[in-house]
Amino acid sequence: MSELRFSDFKELENVQFVHCENLFAQNPFLRRINTDSRKIGPNDVFWVLIGERYDAHDFVPAVALSGALCAVVQRAVEMPRPFPQVVVPDTLKALQQFAHLNRQRFNGTVIGLTGSNGKTSTKELIAHLLQGKQTVHKTSGNLNNHIGCPLTLLELNNSFDFAVIEMGTNHPGEIELLARITQPDAALITNLGTAHLEFFKTMDAIAREKLSLFDQMAPGKTIFVNADDPHIAGYQRTDLVRITYGLKEKADVRARIISVDPNGNVRFELNEKVKIQLRVPGKHNVQNALAASAVALFYGLSEAEIKDRLQSYTAFDKRMQVLQHGGLRIINDAYNANPESMAVAFQALQQMEKGGGLILVLGDMFELGDQALQMHKDVLHEALQLNPLAILIMGELMTEAAKSLNAEKIKSFNSHRELAKELKNMAASNSLIFLKGSRGMQMEKVLEFI
Ligand code: ATP
Ligand code: MG
Repeated sequence: MSELRFSDFKELENVQFVHCENLFAQNPFLRRINTDSRKIGPNDVFWVLIGERYDAHDFVPAVALSGALCAVVQRAVEMPRPFPQVVVPDTLKALQQFAHLNRQRFNGTVIGLTGSNGKTSTKELIAHLLQGKQTVHKTSGNLNNHIGCPLTLLELNNSFDFAVIEMGTNHPGEIELLARITQPDAALITNLGTAHLEFFKTMDAIAREKLSLFDQMAPGKTIFVNADDPHIAGYQRTDLVRITYGLKEKADVRARIISVDPNGNVRFELNEKVKIQLRVPGKHNVQNALAASAVALFYGLSEAEIKDRLQSYTAFDKRMQVLQHGGLRIINDAYNANPESMAVAFQALQQMEKGGGLILVLGDMFELGDQALQMHKDVLHEALQLNPLAILIMGELMTEAAKSLNAEKIKSFNSHRELAKELKNMAASNSLIFLKGSRGMQMEKVLEFI
């Protein structure tokens, strides 16, 4: 449910209405705005988008039969019976405009976050912490792009105290656009790394892109600054409230790592006040938890409350998720991969109990640009330093990189099924198996064949 009514469509630029008389008379609230014709429900507003492989105008007749309230289109679709249609010059732009309007109606607090790695994990952690006391709306899964972000904002209404909005980018200018639509009250950038280097070309361009979230903040708003990331820590604007967090002693919100248990879960001290045992492996999750703690402290939680909440947090889908599967101990980190996220995962593995030995299952890392092959070689080189039983790989880049390393432990496969077969053959019941690759590699599919 949004805070928008049908009459708000009049706010859109160059809008025209077809068969909308009844809707104007009733002026209903817009319960759900839906771009997916397969999931349309009664009284949904069907918002037509034109993608590379589809033109959703084709689905308007079917959607009308499913009980949709109306459709937002770029050209009115001929229908056997009158069906209300809102005609705009550009449905994507209109979606973003409408999302912004709904955001402006929201009286709660909007927290926006971006970064190269750990956005979804940190978003989930922030929501988990705040949810102890307040109602929170958050980006569902990873819907963080120029469509997902507006759709998230369109679900916002004043029954929520907070909104936690993830913003992703793979092209210059996207964060600026999303920040303008989202108008956050507080913003956080998790870190800066090489993700999407192919499109940005340089690290400087990546930094500028992410930092444009801070640039877009209105005076007096709050930014949460990762003191351990030099690109972010150097950001200066005196008209914003600036809260720093990090392992550095001088940060406003601080962590000191105490120990790492055999499962890779870290125990750390927050602000010299409480000792917290995380249930998600890896020191990078301390960073994520610390970022979320900085936000939670700012909005009134105590360190003791944060401790309670963090200790009940478990990993989000395919992010360092510890599983028992087919009698094997598996860490499913297969959501995504780039050189930095591989490195932090390897660090975590180094400290974990490996029982019958470590088997790495690695897929290609996409969108890395000119240096991609070298980056794959480096990752495989680092992987070998972990002294695994084997490294089972998939993907052209991994396979090409492996050739130059000429290591017996590395074996290349063309399918998840073949790879799984070899994995089953070599794994002992107490082996530790680690899965990671870019989203397109779907390395979690290996599990289906075990
Ligand atoms: P996407 O760009 O796909 O939206 P994301 O930024 O939302 O990714 P997550 O989904 O939280 O990131 O995590 C993806 C992977 O990144 C994790 O599986 C983990 O390997 C790694 N990761 C998570 N947090 C960090 C961090 N703070 N630093 C480095 N790597 C991290
Ligand atoms: Mg994400």
